[in-house]
Parts: sequence; structure tokens; C-alpha cells
Amino acid sequence: MAKRLSGKEVSAAINDRIRGDVAALAEKGVTPKLAIVRVGERDDDLSYERGAMKRCDTLGVACERFLLPADVTEEKLIETIHKVNEDSSIHGVLLFRPLPKHLNEQKIINELAPEKDIDGITDGSMVGVFAGKDQGFPPCTPAACMEILDYYGIDCTGKKATVIGRSLVVGKPAAMMLLKKNATVTVCHTRTKDMRAVSKEAEIVICAAGKAGLVDDTYLSPGQIVIDVGIHMTDEGKLTGDIVFDKAEPVVEAITPVPGGVGSVTTAVLVSHVVEAAKRAADR
Ligand code: NAD
Repeated sequence: MAKRLSGKEVSAAINDRIRGDVAALAEKGVTPKLAIVRVGERDDDLSYERGAMKRCDTLGVACERFLLPADVTEEKLIETIHKVNEDSSIHGVLLFRPLPKHLNEQKIINELAPEKDIDGITDGSMVGVFAGKDQGFPPCTPAACMEILDYYGIDCTGKKATVIGRSLVVGKPAAMMLLKKNATVTVCHTRTKDMRAVSKEAEIVICAAGKAGLVDDTYLSPGQIVIDVGIHMTDEGKLTGDIVFDKAEPVVEAITPVPGGVGSVTTAVLVSHVVEAAKRAADR
């Protein structure tokens, strides 16, 4: 039976790190602060916002919300982003996406100061991830996958890794981050031929296809480390991932469950990025 890679354990370790950093910043008179910029009232955003605010609160990180109506104008939203950019008490900004259709998302995102882009959405942060430049932050979800690998002491050097999914939010940055850890990386997507074989031969599999139950035991092999990024709600109201957990667990060496895996680590990473942004600001 596979070892379960517990997101809760990883997240607890990140929280301890955050508490230490928050205490050190307090000695310098700095309280890390997150700004949440939300347009409209999407359920997903509201639930993520509640989780982030609760975690900030328990860890001594301040949080301020900037709430705008779903029909907000581009000018008004950009004005809000400039306001948080200029406010030196704010260290990190979470801007929920997708933005409503009438807004030019790409243009708006890039108004955000890269040093406050703790969710890794600006082009500046992407350059940081893809060119290995020390700027901005990586997106929180692939960063959470790396935290899991690090926590469990999984050395990626020289290992074959397969990433399923090539979105800019998860798949592509995850591939770059594995490469930085010296893995040999293959990225699969909807046009990949014989994905079973590509997945089977990997030693590390990160699955972020967004398709419930896409990967079963026929894609997996013994000795593999499997990270399931997918989150789906079943008709019975249960959370599941992209991997058929019950079929994968008897085969592979270690696997993240859903729930209790990557999702549990993502918000911890978000808050750790706010604290890191505050540390960088204090050092400037
Ligand atoms: P996306 O839809 O933007 O991208 C999915 C990618 O998977 C695409 O590149 C597509 O080519 C690939 N893909 C889709 N179907 C495939 C198939 N049958 N075979 C091979 N490749 C396939 O999704 P995303 O934003 O990257 O998110 C992926 C999943 O991760 C979703 O389930 C999402 O809910 C979840 N997610 C979880 C967290 C978290 O904190 N755990 C955060 C973000 C996203």
C-alpha cells in the first residue's frame, strides 16, 4: 500500500516556518499584510477567500479586502490595483480570476507590482519561474507540489518526471520547477500520444489535467511518487482528484490524497509568500 503524502502535515510545517518569520518581522516592527482584490461574488472565490483570511488570522498576518462589483470598470479596477501597489503596509495581493468577461484580464494582471504578486500571475512572476530570475513568486499550486516533495525528502535529481496538464497556473510552472530540481521532465496534454506509457515510465507524476478519474492504475507503476492536483466535486458531494485513488494506492510508492493533499498546502504557500514578500520589503 502506498504511503499517503499528507498535505496537512506539510501545511503544519509551513505554518511553523511562517510563525517564526512573523515573530522575526514583528521585532522589526513589520506586520505582513495580504490584500484581497475580489470582483463579484463567485462561490469559489468566496470559499478560497474565507480559507485565506482564516489562515492569515491564525498566523498573525493582516488581511484587507478590496471588494468590487461584477460590473466594475477596467479603470476602477486598475485604480484599486495601483492603490494596493502604492500602499507600503501591503506586502502581497491576491486578485481572483477569472475576471468578468468585459475586463481585459491580461492587461489588468500586469498592473500588479511583481514584488506583491504572491499568487504568481503577472508576466514578471512567470519570467521568474521560466528564466530562473529572482523576481515575483511562483503560482501557489505548483509551489505546493514542490513543498510536498521537499517535506517528504523526495530528491528529484536525475529522476524522470511526468506532468499531466500544461496550464500556465499549474502544469507549465510545475514542469519548470521540477526541472530546477534537476528532474528530467515530460509534459503531457490533450494531444499527447500514448499518455499511459509516458506516465508509467515516470518516477514522479504530477497530475493537473482537471479531469476527474483520468488516471487509474493502468497509467501507473510501482515505485512512483504521485501528486494529484485535481479537485472535483462528485454528484454525492464528495471531493475527488484526477487520479482514481483506490486503484492507484495499491500500486504506487506514495500518493497525495484528495482532499487532504495539494489543496491543503496551497493556502499555506499563499500566506508564506506574503511573509516572504514582507521580508524582502524589509530588506530593501
Ligand atoms: P486547466 O483546465 O487550465 O488545464 C488543464 C490541462 O490539462 C490542459 O493543459 C490540458 O491540455 C490538460 N488536459 C486536460 N485533459 C487532458 C487529458 N484527457 N489528457 C491529457 N491532458 C489533459 O486546469 P488547471 O487550472 O491547470 O487545473 C487543473 C486541475 O487542478 C483542476 O482540477 C483544478 O481544479 C485543480 N487545481 C487545484 C488547485 C489546488 O490548490 N489543489 C489549484 C488550482 C487548480
